[in-house]
Amino acid sequence: MRSIEHIIAPPPPHMVGDGFRVHSFFPGGRLIDKKRMSPFFLLDYGAEISFAPADEPRGVGVHPHAGFETVTIAYKGRIAHHDSAGNSGIIGEGDVQWMTAGSGLLHKEYHEEAYSKTGGPFQMVQLWVNLPFVHKKTKPKYQEITRASLGVHTLTDGSRIDVIAGEYKGTRGPAFTFTPIHMMNARLHTNGEAEFSFPASYNTGFLVISGEVEINGQPVNADHFVLFKNDGEDIHLKATTESVVLILSGEPIEEPIAAYGPFLMNTWAEVEQAIQDVNSGKFGTLE
Ligand code: MN
Repeated sequence: MRSIEHIIAPPPPHMVGDGFRVHSFFPGGRLIDKKRMSPFFLLDYGAEISFAPADEPRGVGVHPHAGFETVTIAYKGRIAHHDSAGNSGIIGEGDVQWMTAGSGLLHKEYHEEAYSKTGGPFQMVQLWVNLPFVHKKTKPKYQEITRASLGVHTLTDGSRIDVIAGEYKGTRGPAFTFTPIHMMNARLHTNGEAEFSFPASYNTGFLVISGEVEINGQPVNADHFVLFKNDGEDIHLKATTESVVLILSGEPIEEPIAAYGPFLMNTWAEVEQAIQDVNSGKFGTLE
């Protein structure tokens, strides 16, 4: 059995642009070691809030990224995305966008237009997944992963595990990953139970998106992040009420990190180069 290291309450939220009100679980706080959840570098959680209708979609304007991947999961509301590699898309409820910034791009993230006009519940997650040195400068890539394309493992009571990446008991997720990663949403009915097993060396955390659960017998409320020790493999999840839990596990990337703003490199020289590349237009252009 893998033991729990910390059950972390949502840190005070901050705004990203004017459209994303997020609780940053890491890096920082209990996960002050920037590699504690490697290959996951950052977890921004937009707990459920209700946005008022707006004619101009709220969001965050054009900004660069390089050296890693952004993974955006929509639970409520819809997000629109455009990038300088020519990709765009809408992330609706249950959908996932897996964007590889790699060598570098510009993008912007907004509330989708129709959602913006009606307003209403909004809940999302954005993860930053690090890339190892050998793939850091890979060409930008875009995986539009619809809810319908997820791997679905159905449990005996009709509860389900929606697999985004990696696998759950033989059911594979559609996402391509550069390093071994398991990412899935457990959507459990009241009293639903699921067992998880990941190599002890894989950094592992659960984010309770909604409902109340017990993890290895310990009660955990919605909006809390559970960090596990690397001391075992098996985790038991039981839903006290109808629940959704985001499950993250991955092989750590054992490389130095130079993190500055939207850049995630191995060395400071590479960060400086990325800034020069943005300024000289190498990341392309985006209106
Ligand atoms: Mn971004």
